Amino acid sequence: MVNLGWVDDEIASLKSSGRYVPIRVLQSPQGAWVNIEGRKMLNMCSNNYLGLANHPEVRKAAIEAIESFGVGAGAVRSIAGTDEIHRKLEEKLAEFKHMEDSLVYQGGLLANLGTIPVLVGKEDLIFSEELNHASIIDGTRLSSAKRYVYKHMNVEDLEKQLKEHRSEGKRSLVITDGVFSMDGDIAPLDEIAEVKERYDTMCYVDDAHGEGVLGKNGRGIVDHFSLAGKVEVEMGTFSKALGSMGGFVAGSSHLIDLLRQRSRPFLFSSALNPGDAAAVLKSIEIMSRDDSLIKKLWKNSEILKKGLIDNGFKLTTTKTPITPVVIGDERKTVEFSKLLYEEENIFASPIVYPTVAMGTARIRLMPSAVHSNEDIARAVDAFVSTGKKLKVI
Ligand SMILES: *Cc1c(COP(=O)(O)O)cnc(C)c1O
Repeated sequence: MVNLGWVDDEIASLKSSGRYVPIRVLQSPQGAWVNIEGRKMLNMCSNNYLGLANHPEVRKAAIEAIESFGVGAGAVRSIAGTDEIHRKLEEKLAEFKHMEDSLVYQGGLLANLGTIPVLVGKEDLIFSEELNHASIIDGTRLSSAKRYVYKHMNVEDLEKQLKEHRSEGKRSLVITDGVFSMDGDIAPLDEIAEVKERYDTMCYVDDAHGEGVLGKNGRGIVDHFSLAGKVEVEMGTFSKALGSMGGFVAGSSHLIDLLRQRSRPFLFSSALNPGDAAAVLKSIEIMSRDDSLIKKLWKNSEILKKGLIDNGFKLTTTKTPITPVVIGDERKTVEFSKLLYEEENIFASPIVYPTVAMGTARIRLMPSAVHSNEDIARAVDAFVSTGKKLKVI
């Protein structure tokens, strides 16, 4: 065995710079309240926006699918892993997104890694938003396309770069998160869709935090801006509002057909489990028939934001239920989260550099449709007493 002392050095360095993240272990289903380390905690940091991860109908659909299809898909999609339920889900997603077809992946991260390199290669270009998710950055690297980064929420900068560099490559792609997970702001997709058209550039939006949140019945950002037919690729995840796991891309039937032939996670990694696929199908059915969960989510987020702002807390320019409370100092933010956890029974994780810029450390609160009014009021009260203790307000 070679000496692995470097591993200890790296861990020590993470710890000394306050960037070592302790992993909390949950002992209950996702919900407004969760059990952690034997304690009942108010959960303010999950992405289970609509509470579908533990919805009785969704659970039942997953159990029934396991009874009919078993627990594993048994193979990659292109050999023997495509079950009826995968195709049914792909048709449903296409209909939900007003696209011709869709392709289901085993995760949102894999959807990005698997799709971007099919769209563009080493002779092509990617114009990428500064705050894009890590999976977009990795997908971009895998594609070998030349990458230009444009400034956050800045379409003028995007256009400047398109003007300057578009002629350097054959195919071209502009790629952006729909909702930015650390700030909660919404990409100006309407303006992006207009600009990219003039530079013969495809548009790809990662709607991980938009589905179930924006648009009619939670259809996401393209519906929010009424851009059907103007964005070439919509990518999404099943692991946030949809409550299960997996990911997908939606687009033209020809594009999806090509992905089925070329996309590496489709060809070389086994298919999504039938129970997960069935859960997503049910979640979409619930969202389509009734938008009361989405309304409750927004209502809770408004109460939460107002309570925090009225008490002197500083939020980002969020336009969605994502509620980041900016503390600034990294250590104070970690301490804030620790006090919430230890003294207030509130589970809300700190977000510090390098996930966000130095000096903008924050606690990101994620309200959901399954929080009660009392839960939200309790979170605000706990912030006020902790904020006073640490002289943040
Ligand atoms: C969470 C997230 C992903 C990854 O989705 P998973 O299904 O959890 O792999 C991709 N993109 C964005 C913007 C996300 O927030």
